[in-house]
Amino acid sequence: MEAKELLVLPLGIVNFVTYLGLPTSVVEFFENMNDKAIQDFRRLRLERTRASLQKRRITARIFATGKEVLDYLRAIIPEGATVGVGDSLTLSQVGVYELLETGSYSYLNKYATMSREEKRALYLKNFDADYFFSGVNAITEEGEIYNLDGNGSRVAPIIYGPRRVFLVAGYNKITLNEQEAAARIRNYAAPTDAIRLNKNTPCAKTGKCADCRSEDRICNYLTVIKGQFDPNRIEVLLLDEELGF
Ligand code: SF4
Repeated sequence: MEAKELLVLPLGIVNFVTYLGLPTSVVEFFENMNDKAIQDFRRLRLERTRASLQKRRITARIFATGKEVLDYLRAIIPEGATVGVGDSLTLSQVGVYELLETGSYSYLNKYATMSREEKRALYLKNFDADYFFSGVNAITEEGEIYNLDGNGSRVAPIIYGPRRVFLVAGYNKITLNEQEAAARIRNYAAPTDAIRLNKNTPCAKTGKCADCRSEDRICNYLTVIKGQFDPNRIEVLLLDEELGF
């Protein structure tokens, strides 16, 4: 065990120090020490995940904030580029949708009002887009990327079509391994999404997956990306923030 790890104090001890009435500066000292340890731990996990993705020929970068991600995207997406998107709370929180709406891009905006046939036409255009954006449902520290989808319009262009694909993922999407990823999706991501979309599924009522056969099933397709031929196609943007669910 490194000396640095020995210095990490549990939060309970910090509270006890507060209880003893020690000066605020002492409490702050211990709190800062804990914050630093947590930050270092998160950075190690992010780095481990990035390295695993790279070994699978998937380019990955780490960003501290959503603003850094937007600056990066502004610098590399040329004006006039055709850009499609998948449904993602993470993309919304980071400001990617806003960037595409206000920028000089040919934005395939799935959120615009349109008929069912028009939406189908837009989804098909995503396959020929220059860029496509999506969130993810889980990424393992081993570098496998998990995504579920109801109708496939999000996962299909991630796998094939658009020339470049950006997957944006908060720290909270990282799981240890496949088992943890599956549990995260079944018992958290899918039920929460079903509730958000007001779906008539068991998980929307109980918060737990029942492996249903519902007409509204939101997880008809579960994809796992384990690598790619072109290392410059799918790129993962990892953020040291909690984003989406
Ligand atoms: S299988 Fe059904 S119950 Fe389970 S997460 Fe999917 S929609 Fe929800």
